[in-house]
Amino acid sequence: METNKCKICGEREATKTNSHLLPAFLEAVVGSYDHSYRRDRDVLITKTKYSTRIHTGALPSTEYERLFDQDKLTDERIKNELSDNPCAVDYIFCPQCESALSDVLESKYPEQLKTGRPVDRRLSFFFWLSVVWRMSVGGIFGFRLPEDIENKLGRSLDSYMNGGLDDDAVDRLIEKTPFCYKLFQCKDYCRNPEHGGMIHCWLSDSRKSLMCMIGDFGLEVCFAKEFKSESLEYFLNKAVIDEAPLNTGMADEEIYHVSEELWQATHKGFIAHGKRVIAEGYLETLARIWETMKAEGCIVCDGGMPWPMAMWILKEMLDDKDVKMGDKHTPERWHHLVCMALEHPEFWNGK
Ligand SMILES: [Zn+2]
Repeated sequence: METNKCKICGEREATKTNSHLLPAFLEAVVGSYDHSYRRDRDVLITKTKYSTRIHTGALPSTEYERLFDQDKLTDERIKNELSDNPCAVDYIFCPQCESALSDVLESKYPEQLKTGRPVDRRLSFFFWLSVVWRMSVGGIFGFRLPEDIENKLGRSLDSYMNGGLDDDAVDRLIEKTPFCYKLFQCKDYCRNPEHGGMIHCWLSDSRKSLMCMIGDFGLEVCFAKEFKSESLEYFLNKAVIDEAPLNTGMADEEIYHVSEELWQATHKGFIAHGKRVIAEGYLETLARIWETMKAEGCIVCDGGMPWPMAMWILKEMLDDKDVKMGDKHTPERWHHLVCMALEHPEFWNGK
């Protein structure tokens, strides 16, 4: 099989499969089904404007029962959707770089963080750089950094992990790497079953800064040596962002602790924003279904789907409490709802 070159070293073949784009400890904070933050217990639901997919790690049968109507769960869906980790991709790293990532950054950072003392400045700088860079090269978190920035960060990461550099050389590398960040944490927020964790990233319009919500952590990164916040209005608030210390890799990492109320307000702001985006996506999907049905001669009508019909389907998609979470967004359910709506004469609104 033909493979690409590894995205980190750029030399060896990228033969590694199932490379996690998010360090396991962050993935577990976001998605452990029992809120234990354990890495073998993840359930991840990926929402984009047009689709919703569920990944279930090693889920026990009681959890399947909660998420799905098991009679309807096909082997095909288990194979193609549920076992497919949205935070993992194949053939982007070589085995050496993948294990370097794990040994040099992924296992050390959470170990030091757990002690409650500041994490080593060089380690934390490259840990968060690797998180942002990997999300970008993976291309599945809704953003892609400008190519020159992505390349610069990738080369720095490679030098740090594979370059055999002494501390002074690492400091010189940090000084010329366009990356600084403010880190926020609402500790144990996702352990509360009422909350649930999420990953959301947003690259600013100028493409010079990135905002991320990753479970208990918030991150705003600038791809320069100075920090200029460009975050969205619902992300924390301006006073908090201004007040938070800047991490440049030249001093111990400082984390700004965010109150539960503020982190919850940030989540609510994001959910309101996300719902609008998803509702727009649903309406576009319905418009496409409608045009296809007209083209196939299934319905005869001028114009688009009657508005009351579209609104009814949208409401059912978003709110129906009788359908289990895992069954809400399947093609079968779209089909079922459209058929139901077509049978309601009142939705035709005189057409
Ligand atoms: Zn490599």
